[in-house]
Amino acid sequence: MSIDIEDWHQLVARRFSGRLPECSVNVETQTDQILEILDTCAIRATFFVLGLVARAKPELVRRISARGHEIASHGMIHVPLTQLDRARVRAELRDSKALLADVSGTNVVGFRAPEFSIVASNRWALDEIAAAGYRYDSSIYPIAHRRYGIRSFSRRPSRLQLASGPLWELPLGTVPTPFGNLPIAGGGYYRMLPTVVLECAMRLLAGRREHTMLYFHPYEFSTSRLSLEHDALPTSPDGRLMAEVWLALQAIGRHHLRNRAERAFRASRTIRSVDLVDELESTGLNHVSRAA
Ligand SMILES: [Zn+2]
Repeated sequence: MSIDIEDWHQLVARRFSGRLPECSVNVETQTDQILEILDTCAIRATFFVLGLVARAKPELVRRISARGHEIASHGMIHVPLTQLDRARVRAELRDSKALLADVSGTNVVGFRAPEFSIVASNRWALDEIAAAGYRYDSSIYPIAHRRYGIRSFSRRPSRLQLASGPLWELPLGTVPTPFGNLPIAGGGYYRMLPTVVLECAMRLLAGRREHTMLYFHPYEFSTSRLSLEHDALPTSPDGRLMAEVWLALQAIGRHHLRNRAERAFRASRTIRSVDLVDELESTGLNHVSRAA
């Protein structure tokens, strides 16, 4: 179970206006909501925290860590790794790890790339992740998608033998179907799939004794309407319309997310990624070893 901690308002404002505003208070209130849900369900999760948030809200990171959740890295600036050269990827991995360790006082061993941006063309990023001292990565979606995913990648956790050392890959959750892997890990997929399909998928995976990586974002649990400051929206009528349509899409399925997630947490054994890696290393079961 994982949460990507980033400030929706900050990143969406940058996307539309090109300028990066301050980290907003929303990320704190929304994250506190998630912490309360996890407490209610008595589970601990992995929080992939963005460097931008950790720098602006160190107390929030400490609050998450103090409740027993794992602090892992979501990079520094939330630019897809596919848009960065190798030196900048290396800096993202190094700087975010050091910052989060410093702020949380814990060892940071997990990484998730923004927008699942480890794909066939930049698999070298896995080498950099292992070289930077991480034990696991959770960035690969084994699906065919326009912007991300490696369709042929293992659906199950795998221990990769890389030139720079070993690295566990904990891929985002999918269900195999005759038409390819169906993504169910989180985001729009998780919010929009009919409950019956989702619960059937989870039962199928439980029957196969598979681990499934789920992910959520703080904003998804917010029940208030998502909107942006006036100056963060595009000025042209076309751009404005596109932005409004996009904002409306972001709202879909949020009203039932809490219910749906709580049911899933109660129906399965939900653990932190680092604990899964420890288990896999100690039992050697339920994973495949492969060369990357
Ligand atoms: Zn993200």
